[in-house]
Amino acid sequence: MNNGQSLQVLHLYPELLNLYGDSGNMLVLRKRLEWRHLGCTVHEVHMGERASLADVDLVFIGGGSDREQRIVCDELHQQRQEFAAFVEDGGVMLAVCGGYQLLGHSYLMGEEEVRGLSLVDLYTDRGSPRLIGNVVVESRIAAQPIVGYENHGGRTHLEAGVEALGRVLHGYGNDGQSGEEGCLYRNVVGTYVHGPLLPKNPGLADWLITRALERRYGACELEPLDDTDELAANETMRKRLL
Ligand code: GLN
Repeated sequence: MNNGQSLQVLHLYPELLNLYGDSGNMLVLRKRLEWRHLGCTVHEVHMGERASLADVDLVFIGGGSDREQRIVCDELHQQRQEFAAFVEDGGVMLAVCGGYQLLGHSYLMGEEEVRGLSLVDLYTDRGSPRLIGNVVVESRIAAQPIVGYENHGGRTHLEAGVEALGRVLHGYGNDGQSGEEGCLYRNVVGTYVHGPLLPKNPGLADWLITRALERRYGACELEPLDDTDELAANETMRKRLL
């Protein structure tokens, strides 16, 4: 039904922001489009290059250590206006962990501040201990709870009016206290979940794909895929943890 349609994906700084296999999310997007006879072109943006968002459907930014976040922060900042316009125009964005923190106003590490992009009204400060382990999150945008792995020193605080991606069923989420995980703003998903995120969470992958196709081509209904393996992997983790 969607034959001939294709998405343009921008993958930011894969050489620096790729903790716990985050780049695997690109394989999942590509494959789930290909299985439906839809095209996908992934453009990698490396340090020193300027990202053009003119024809982009989906932006992905992965997680990184504090050191790597410091390295990309100024570079990202130079393009803040373009990213903000993209988000406000309904552009789809997936940001994981270090990338999620950079969506907000700042990441405070004691005296030091890593400036964020202020795309979503949230900020992060660093706490102790690190929040590490498997995580399960119930979200309105995925039929099955989202499963994965988290490892962060940052505590993320959503300002009033920013919706969380979901509710923590197991693990820590944004700050280990609020019971909330991630953020959902327009078509932007921020989350602490690595693993990578998308292989075991096909519902979330299809939510992102659907939003991006809708924005480019108008109303769209995705052809269902045989997700037996993906859902079995998801269920195994849920059964183990809940
Ligand atoms: N450096 C950030 C933190 O520790 C993000 C880590 C990550 O991307 N896993 O909070």
